[in-house]
This record gives sequence, C-alpha cells and structure tokens, in this order.
Amino acid sequence: MNIIKTDGIIIRTQNYLETSKIVVCYTKKQGKVSLIAKGARRPKSKLGGALDLLNHVHLVYYSKESRELQVLSQADICHSSQSYSREIPRFSLAMAAAELIGQLEMKEDKNVWLFNNLAETITSIEKAVTPELILYQFIWRWLELSGFKPRLRRCLKCGQIPQGEKVNFSFSVGGYFCSNCHQGHDEYLQISIAGIHLILMLRDYAASQLINQRTTNFLLGELKNITWRFLQHHVDGIKELKSLKFFDKISNLEEYKAGVV
Ligand SMILES: [Zn+2]
Repeated sequence: MNIIKTDGIIIRTQNYLETSKIVVCYTKKQGKVSLIAKGARRPKSKLGGALDLLNHVHLVYYSKESRELQVLSQADICHSSQSYSREIPRFSLAMAAAELIGQLEMKEDKNVWLFNNLAETITSIEKAVTPELILYQFIWRWLELSGFKPRLRRCLKCGQIPQGEKVNFSFSVGGYFCSNCHQGHDEYLQISIAGIHLILMLRDYAASQLINQRTTNFLLGELKNITWRFLQHHVDGIKELKSLKFFDKISNLEEYKAGVV
C-alpha cells in the first residue's frame, strides 16, 4: 500500500452507506481516482466540508493497485467552489468540463497538463464575461491533446485563406473547403469565417486572455454546434453532458438573464 499526496479536483460525489461518501477526483499525480471518504457525512468529520463538487483540494490517500476504491485520509481545500455561490449557470458550465473528464479519461491516466487546464478552466469560468468560451476552449484543448486538431487556417484543397463569409467544414477530413472547392463532401457543416476565427482564438489564447472576451449569440451557437458534432464524430461513446444541457435550460430563463435569481 502506498500513501499518495497530490492535488485533486472533485468531479463526482455520491453518498455511501450511512455516513460515508465516494468521490471521484481528477488528480495531478494519478489521473482519475475513486476514493472512499469514511464517515465524511458525520457532522464533525474533518473531510466533509472539503468534498464539494469542483473543489480543488490537497489530498492524502492510501492506494492499493488491486482496489477499485482508494481510502481517503485527508483533504484540505486549496480553492473552494463555494465562491460560485448562487451562480448556478456558471457552476453548471464548470461541471460540464468535469463531466467530460469523468466520461473520457481512463482511471489513473496521469496528465499534469490536463489537470492544470481543468483547474484553470474552473477558476476562469467563475469570472469570465462570456464563460461559455472558457468551457469550449477546454474542450478544444482536450481534443488537441487527444490528437484531434482540425486544420483551420486555410482551405484543405486550394490552400487559400478563404474569402467570403462561409466555409464548409468536414468532420471526417478535419478541416474546411472554401466555396470554390466545396463539392458536396459527405458530412460537412457550413460555418462562418468568424466562427472559424473564434475556434482559432480559443486554441491560440490563454484562458486569462479570454476573461474579458465577448462574442455574439450567433457565434456561440455555431461554436456549440461544431464542437459537439466534432466530439461525437471522433470520440466513441461520448454521452450528452447533462450539466451543459442544464446550463442551456436555465440560461434561457428570463430571471437569470435579468440577474434577479
Ligand atoms: Zn479552396
């Protein structure tokens, strides 16, 4: 048995028996790990308060390879998701990033870059003017890390920077054809040049540079559509992100738009 000390982000929690909790964390040193927090729901437990979803915590746990669940010994908050307070739409967006990691990352598949990106995404979604951009940046970066990086700077056939307003994006080829070269390729999506530039910006900029970035609802709609279809095309078995669906639902409510909830 090993004692592991590492940073982790809590991406899923579930009550277990009378007083315990099972938490899934994406950790810096060990990737995705399931931990049992014995007695965490007892009122005086030291663990309890630290185990809220999306908390960034310093963890100490006992690890044994043959076990599904490792045993949590200590959890100290490094950055609390309490700061989201009543910002449910933002919290849902940040949860969508965690859900994606929960679905796609294999157990104990360590990736420090991904851990740091997830942590930065969660804190940036809290304060961004257009928090959706931060989530989509995270998804495009994850795609790039996984080897899916469409060519977006020039037409795939003629190599020219496209003129006009729209291009035809092919999911199977991983790039686009300008209006001169497009010949009814089987699976494509018409997308504006401004939409292509937005994805390039997400790929090229740091999250901190996107904090004050604004965009239009039209471009956000395009971004959502192409991102989700690209994920579905390339990632086997990907399931709908419930948190993102919830975000869409509540962000359409007039009370949230008016900021009165
Ligand atoms: Zn072309």
